Amino acid sequence: MNHSYYDVVVIGGGPAGSTLATLLVRKKYQVLVLDREKFPRFHVGESLLPATQLIWEKLGIAEPLQHLSNTFKYGTEIRIGLNPQRSEYEYSRQEFYKFPTRRLQQRPYAYQVERSEFDLFLLNHAREEGATVFEEAVVKQVLWEGDTATGIRWQSKDNIEYITKAKFIADCSGRYGLITKSRKFLIPNKTIKTSAVFGHFKHVTRACGIQQGYFNGYVIENGWIWFIPLASDIMSVGVVMNEPGTSWWKQKSPEEILLTYVQQYKFIRERFEQAEQFSKIRMLRDLSYASKRSVGDGWILVGDANFFVDPLFSSGVHIAFLSAEKAADAIDGFLKNNRDRKFLQQYEKWSQKEHFHVSTTMALMYKMLKYRISMQLLIKLTGKYSNHWDNLFLRRLVAWGSGYYEEFHWTLYCSWLFCFLLIGIGKVCEKFLGISGWSTQPEFCLESPLTIPKSAESSS
Ligand code: FAD
Repeated sequence: MNHSYYDVVVIGGGPAGSTLATLLVRKKYQVLVLDREKFPRFHVGESLLPATQLIWEKLGIAEPLQHLSNTFKYGTEIRIGLNPQRSEYEYSRQEFYKFPTRRLQQRPYAYQVERSEFDLFLLNHAREEGATVFEEAVVKQVLWEGDTATGIRWQSKDNIEYITKAKFIADCSGRYGLITKSRKFLIPNKTIKTSAVFGHFKHVTRACGIQQGYFNGYVIENGWIWFIPLASDIMSVGVVMNEPGTSWWKQKSPEEILLTYVQQYKFIRERFEQAEQFSKIRMLRDLSYASKRSVGDGWILVGDANFFVDPLFSSGVHIAFLSAEKAADAIDGFLKNNRDRKFLQQYEKWSQKEHFHVSTTMALMYKMLKYRISMQLLIKLTGKYSNHWDNLFLRRLVAWGSGYYEEFHWTLYCSWLFCFLLIGIGKVCEKFLGISGWSTQPEFCLESPLTIPKSAESSS
């Protein structure tokens, strides 16, 4: 068995791991990053938020990131099927400068990214900054002395086993949740029980002009469908459904499920007339979870290893960056102050608050998705302001949704009250007036199935 020693071991080289490693190297720590995959590798999570640009500026990567083959995302559009009523969150207009925060960013847009390229860029950046990075290196076990994490056992790509001791272990292993699962900290979300099927397609119809880079969310019964336009005419398409457990989702393959939605809804099918399937269709179940604990003596959970709520607000990658930034300060405080746990506890408190805000907002959204009338009202009322920056309340809400999670809390709480009201209206309409309406929509398609050929150059 080979032995080595580092100040900090980072398990996982996704956005959380790469960012944490870069920040710790800059604080003069010796950092080892291990990832089980060979990069570039596929990863879901392609739509980013504008506020992440602030962290990129600090990391010095905002400018080079602009030159990757990203699609510029100037906004988000939410609608119910083909209904002309839409709710648009645009970042790009002049009014962006009404942004209700002092931390105004220079680049008022986000990106839709090919994660294989984006994550490789971040991992290489951590390497260039001085972290030692090994790919195809699987961490098998975290080593403990009592409750203190003291090192890891891992296997290199040549099947050689190593023991690496460290002052600190950062678990950035994403949904694998190495510490979360082995220590039985995992708590599934009780309200949001979503699963997703997703894949890449070529030649799916896009909007024109500035809107061609928008994130499109189509609301359907108990769920929603994403269209994320990527470079080279690739469209990432996914369906997220709450509690699909009892239905046909259990019996069919991911490909059959996704293609059923494409056939069933007229407004999706129309965008697929010329489409070719470009990737394997994948499925992920039980998307939403959190860890009971985020820190302990000599260890911390960062990014998805700590919690994940839902893709609806495109918040996952932003939280990975944000939590890596906070974790770097917490680890530094802990190690420089004689292993004082106060710094780690501050991180845990911060993370619990962020989780509470995001998961409560999302839970209300899924409650509303049960009632078409509630969603219709929400889209009608918010969509009335063709640009949300024109409205004082929506402007603050959009700023929170753009990733300024540490501000605008009162606006967020008020929006929860508003959601409760809309859910109440939905319930009353269903119970007393018999209006729910999801199953009788004109957007269903009765035509014969479309054939969607597989692209000759399809990726994995
Ligand atoms: P990851 O990116 O998952 O990185 C973890 C890394 O750890 C991986 O590279 C893995 O190989 C490595 N690893 C795991 N176990 C080990 C081990 N034992 N040894 C070594 N390495 C290991 N977010 C958005 O911002 N926008 C979106 O549009 C979006 N859409 C999503 C859609 C779906 C269906 C889902 C499920 C998520 C979506 N997300 C989205 C969330 C986003 O994918 C994640 O939040 C983000 O990737 C988290 O980054 P991370 O670094 O924490 O984890």
